[in-house]
Amino acid sequence: MTTIPDKTEILGWLREMDPERLAELWRRADETRRQCVGDAVHLRGLVEISNHCARQCAYCGLRAGNENLVRYRMPAAEIFESARQAVEFGYGTVVLQGGEDYGITAKWLAEIVRRIKSETPLAVTLSLGERPDKDLAAWRKAGADRYLLRFETSDRNLFDEIHPPLGNHEGDRIAILRRLREFGFEVGSGIMVGIPGQTYASVADDIALFRELDLDMIGIGPFIPHPQTPLGNGFRFFPSVNGEQVPNNELMVYKAVALTRLVRPDANIPATTALATINKKNGRELGLQRGANVFMPNLTPLSYRRLYEIYPNKACITETGDACNGCLSLRIKGIGRHLGRGAGGRRSRQVIAEPEAGKECCHA
Ligand code: SAM
Ligand code: SF4
Repeated sequence: MTTIPDKTEILGWLREMDPERLAELWRRADETRRQCVGDAVHLRGLVEISNHCARQCAYCGLRAGNENLVRYRMPAAEIFESARQAVEFGYGTVVLQGGEDYGITAKWLAEIVRRIKSETPLAVTLSLGERPDKDLAAWRKAGADRYLLRFETSDRNLFDEIHPPLGNHEGDRIAILRRLREFGFEVGSGIMVGIPGQTYASVADDIALFRELDLDMIGIGPFIPHPQTPLGNGFRFFPSVNGEQVPNNELMVYKAVALTRLVRPDANIPATTALATINKKNGRELGLQRGANVFMPNLTPLSYRRLYEIYPNKACITETGDACNGCLSLRIKGIGRHLGRGAGGRRSRQVIAEPEAGKECCHA
């Protein structure tokens, strides 16, 4: 059992560089993970259903302004086939992710969700950007279980700089996260670490916000510059307050993952693809040993996968679903963990009263 760090302690850990002290943070995060969500690693089959996007996020290769990208939208039959593959591999969840693509109508996707729910045992997670409430409500009604929408950074000024409004639609992701909960979704969010202009204090705020929002799933990955974006081509740069800049390296990601496990002991926390991209050798394993408990193997058909280029040199871009599945099983077993069974939703949200900083907590 461990205590929940308050914001000052979180900030101290984010700045910590002493390997021996950090070993203590990894140990605490791993122990909390083991006590609160166990040794199972849950697999969510990721299907990147469209790389069209109406948005102009300054960090992302799928932004509408990137004219060097061939765009695709997967046909319904292929999405369903990928979901079938998830069942075949024994995954409990399929994640349908894409750009904020209004070529995907609420009705079309609701049909697909309905079919997956009626013909497979899968939990369905959606991650399709800031869609209007009526679309989100329709997808929930069709049976979608979860929705992922990262708030990216809780620093509102920085977020507005890197995430321009769509028309006159401002895009308050935190307000959307609260509404998603009202619609009855399990709700996931997360951040990028090392966004140009991000301070240590703002990452500490992000982690405190994970606790406040009582999130079910929390994804944390490094910001990886994409040369065809304003943040990756050097065209725009945002100096932080006092010139401070959080590095976008793996150590910072491990610290954020470990601290997130301490503040949200029973959340589902993936070892992200972005982390695997900056350390292809063992980034995922280290993530799992420092607080994470979820992997998201890629089930997108290979012909589309290389076109879903959020950032360059993405991990697992050439492996088939089969190869990815085999590789991940070996990696999980290699660190003495086992594959999770079933949907792997969050176990105990209803039982959790808001934990106070400094109090002991497990919730499992
Ligand atoms: N369009 C949806 C959205 O924005 O929520 C879902 C797809 S979007 C590609 C998924 C996530 O990719 C974003 O939330 C963001 O955190 C991450 N991402 C985008 N560009 C990135 C970059 N250059 N480096 C690291 N992560 C990035
Ligand atoms: Fe579109 Fe999402 Fe990329 Fe923003 S992060 S450009 S919304 S795909």
